[in-house]
Amino acid sequence: MIKDDCIFCKLANGQIPCNFVYENSDVVAFDDLNPQAPIHTLVIPKQHYETLEDVNDKELLAKLMLAVKEVAKIKGAKNGFRTVINTKKEAGQEVFHLHIHVLAGRPMKWPPG
Ligand code: 5GP
Ligand code: ZN
Repeated sequence: MIKDDCIFCKLANGQIPCNFVYENSDVVAFDDLNPQAPIHTLVIPKQHYETLEDVNDKELLAKLMLAVKEVAKIKGAKNGFRTVINTKKEAGQEVFHLHIHVLAGRPMKWPPG
């Protein structure tokens, strides 16, 4: 389903114009509004799922991960990339439509903050 008041639903389904880095029938990717690295792209399902906890569809989960790899390739993240899924408030989730951050283009520290 698509949620009327969800900004990522609107971006993914064309209600708000947006340049997609990548798109297929179930998944889109677009650059983060407030990038935390030279490359910072979000990969999201077109359908609305609040968090990773809400997805049990293995095919969709696989499609999201394959899209992450496509995005890394398209963006030229040849020295590596970091993939982050913040799930719920304590983990730092602010937008409650599942999204996978793809970050690259600078050295990454561990542990994350
Ligand atoms: P979270 O903290 O939920 O894991 O990440 C949400 C991300 O979405 C943040 O990095 C934030 O900059 C990004 N974001 C929030 N609103 C918009 C928007 O309207 N457009 C785009 N492209 N990114 C957004
Ligand atoms: Zn949504």
